[in-house]
Amino acid sequence: MSYLNNIKKYATVDFSYVYRNTEYSQCQMNKYKACVKDTEKKKRLSNNLCPICYYTGHWTGGQMFTQNQCGVCEAEMMFGSTCIDVVCPKCAKELGICKHCGTTLNLKLPKKEKFKVAK
Ligand SMILES: [Zn+2]
Ligand SMILES: [Zn+2]
Repeated sequence: MSYLNNIKKYATVDFSYVYRNTEYSQCQMNKYKACVKDTEKKKRLSNNLCPICYYTGHWTGGQMFTQNQCGVCEAEMMFGSTCIDVVCPKCAKELGICKHCGTTLNLKLPKKEKFKVAK
């Protein structure tokens, strides 16, 4: 049983539930529309984020500090929340990938020679 299944099982599906979820889904849909159109491309690229993370990511900054290593140069990175990035901004820029999830910024499949290959 997944967490989601448990929620569905015990949720009271009434007017406010349907209303709330519809509002939430509308909000998600608007994010996806912005994502497809890439409405803030300049800002997104300057943040080294792919369309998915930029438009649909959850950027709720928690109070917890999390540490992670850059997946490319192994530099130490600190984050103000549990929402951690996989590479540092420098490597993201150099490789043209999203610092948060590693997707290429133009959503084209990556060229092998640009990246290290896992042993
Ligand atoms: Zn790095
Ligand atoms: Zn991303």
